[in-house]
Amino acid sequence: MIMSGDTQTSSYVWRPSSEPHLVTRVAEGLASVLFPPRCLLCGEGTERLALLCERCTQGLPTLDGTRCHRCQEPLPEEGLDLCRACGTRNRGFDLARSLGSYASGWGRLVRALKFDGERAVARLLCARLAAYLTDEEPFGTIGVVTYVPMSRSDRRKRGFNQAHLLAQGIGRRIGISARRLLLKVRETPPQAALPASERRENLRGAFHLIRSGRGKVLLIDDIFTTGSTVEACAHTLKSGGHKEVFVLTVARA
Ligand SMILES: [Zn+2]
Ligand SMILES: [Zn+2]
Repeated sequence: MIMSGDTQTSSYVWRPSSEPHLVTRVAEGLASVLFPPRCLLCGEGTERLALLCERCTQGLPTLDGTRCHRCQEPLPEEGLDLCRACGTRNRGFDLARSLGSYASGWGRLVRALKFDGERAVARLLCARLAAYLTDEEPFGTIGVVTYVPMSRSDRRKRGFNQAHLLAQGIGRRIGISARRLLLKVRETPPQAALPASERRENLRGAFHLIRSGRGKVLLIDDIFTTGSTVEACAHTLKSGGHKEVFVLTVARA
């Protein structure tokens, strides 16, 4: 089934098999992806072609509480505008926004996209991200859409870059094509394995600008944890002349 945890490898990557009935199994697999009989989040029966039931579709929660104006980090008390990170250093990005919390259904959708390669989930997330941009207009008029790149070997292992998929889908929906502006030129240990204090150091010099520019960039990623990754990307973009960098992710830690 789809939600089977973080460690599972991408299930859509085709691998040669000598087992019989491959065609049947592929057809069944495709049918279960294209026509999931149950809601991905709650397991209730859904309409044909619907990934989520009506209740879960409506019920995906937005971020609540008092939050940093720049990055949406929860703030310990009322009356503050910025979190400690945004108040004490230049984070590179101008604003960072997420649809919801990683601890909610948004996080489960990200995992389904990332670890199970669910294209239907990508479509759903792109639609919600694009709707957020057009309905709320959090960043004003965007000049170019781009994404957090993966290193070549990480991309080969996963078979796709989920941030690229999201940027392409969003770009199509808002009428601004996604462009590759950054390369990840250096392998880095997974950010999740490192304490927050080491994450920025881990990414130093990891990204390389391949197109300079002057406008407003929308930078897409799947999750915002400490923000170190988008911070490194935003600094790199600005070093190439890009004036403003706005970050949009599906989920936030
Ligand atoms: Zn549901
Ligand atoms: Zn902040």
